[in-house]
Order: sequence, then structure tokens, then C-alpha cells
Amino acid sequence: MKITILGSGTSTGVPVLGCKCNVCLSEDIKDKRSRPGILLVKNGFNLLIDASQDLRDQLLKNRIERIDGIIITHAHADHIFGLDDTRMLSKKYQKSMDIYCTKRVEKDVRRVYSYVFNNSQEGGGKPKFSFHNISLLKNIGPFSLKLFDYYHGGIKLKGFILDRIVILMDGSYIDMKNYRFIKKYGKIIIINSLRTRPHPTHFSIPESIFLVKSLGFEKAYFVHLSDSLKHEDLLKMVPENIFPTYDGMEIEYE
Ligand SMILES: [Zn+2]
Ligand SMILES: [Zn+2]
Repeated sequence: MKITILGSGTSTGVPVLGCKCNVCLSEDIKDKRSRPGILLVKNGFNLLIDASQDLRDQLLKNRIERIDGIIITHAHADHIFGLDDTRMLSKKYQKSMDIYCTKRVEKDVRRVYSYVFNNSQEGGGKPKFSFHNISLLKNIGPFSLKLFDYYHGGIKLKGFILDRIVILMDGSYIDMKNYRFIKKYGKIIIINSLRTRPHPTHFSIPESIFLVKSLGFEKAYFVHLSDSLKHEDLLKMVPENIFPTYDGMEIEYE
């Protein structure tokens, strides 16, 4: 299986508009963090996690011409505002886009994308979405699937274990029952790790390091990064088995 980190940044992206900090002004390509997106490829099946505003750019840069399905973790802008761009893929492959999410997320996507579901003129084309209730599934394509609960501030979200990869995209809290579940079934984790200081709706870097250490996983990958640290400085903060990600990073996993 190959994992590509399409976007390593938080909702603002890095550089942040109007910000003149040393991270936003950095010329290191690894400090250019686009909004969240991860591609998992197994047996030729391209599974995308989240569709941010930067999706089009990410697909072009990484030369990805086909998406077989998209998991939407939640309906915030940095996770769904790229969904409209999938219309060109639906057109090319003559097929609606399979979207895997909870009923609650589906409801929010339908509200945000109301023009897709009403009878208005097609114009330049509308995306076509086929929703699948992720809570009922045991597999997506060749990936086995297990779900767990965690919190993004006050919002309860579903996290995913695909094969043995835990994906915890926008979390700030996980209870003991769900912690034990991911410890039992996971082997590696891709987890949000926003910044050095605490934050009300995301794990901070020290919190994510603590969580990963206690899980005892082989490897962990930090995503949803802000402009609090440069890539080279993040590397100095984390143990050897934790990898801060960057846009375009490829991970081989068997
Ligand atoms: Zn987010
Ligand atoms: Zn900045």
C-alpha cells in the first residue's frame, strides 16, 4: 500500500494569509502546507481521505487522475470544499463519486452543496455524489474498515482504522474505551498535531507525542499542521518513530 500526504496543513494552509512569521516566510518547500488530504492506494484502488479547497491543485501536482472513493471525516470547509472538483473525474469516468461518511456528515454535505441536489440548470456541470453510510461498512474497496469515536472540540466524530492504519484527522480528545480500541487494532497512526500551544479543538504537538508514545505504535505521522514550527524544527521535537508530514510525502506500508 502507498500513502501520499496530499495536504499536511491545517484549515488556514501555510503560509497563512497576511502572516509574516518565520514559518510562513520560509522558503523550504516542506513548510508549504496545503489543506488536509491523504491518498491511500491499494491494489489499484485510490481512496481519498477528505477533499479540501486545495484538492484540485493536489491532484494535479501528484498526477492523480482517478479517485475510486472519498472518506469525508467531517463537514468543515477544509475537508469538503474540494468536492465540487470531483465533477471532472465523474465526467471522465462516467460515474458518480462514491462518498463514505456518517449520516450526519452526509446531511451537512447535502446542505452545503444544495445546488447539486436541486433541479437547477447544469451549466458547467455538477458533481455527482453517491453516499455510503460508513457506519454500516466493514470494507471500502480492498481496505478493511473499523470505526471509533473521538472528539473535535465539542463535536463527536468517527475515526477510521483502514487495514491497521488509524486515521484521526481533527481530534482533541479520545476516551479510554476508544483509546483501547485503537491500541488493539492499530499499528500506525496518522494524527492531527496542530501547534506547540494547546488548542480547544485539536491535539497540540506535545499532546499528540504523548498519545503516540502511550499507544506504543511502530510509526506515527503528524498532519493538520499550523505555522507554529518549521518542518526542520518539528523534526527536532519528535521521537524517531514520529514523522511530521509535508505535502507530497509518500509512505510505503505493507
Ligand atoms: Zn480540519
Ligand atoms: Zn505564520
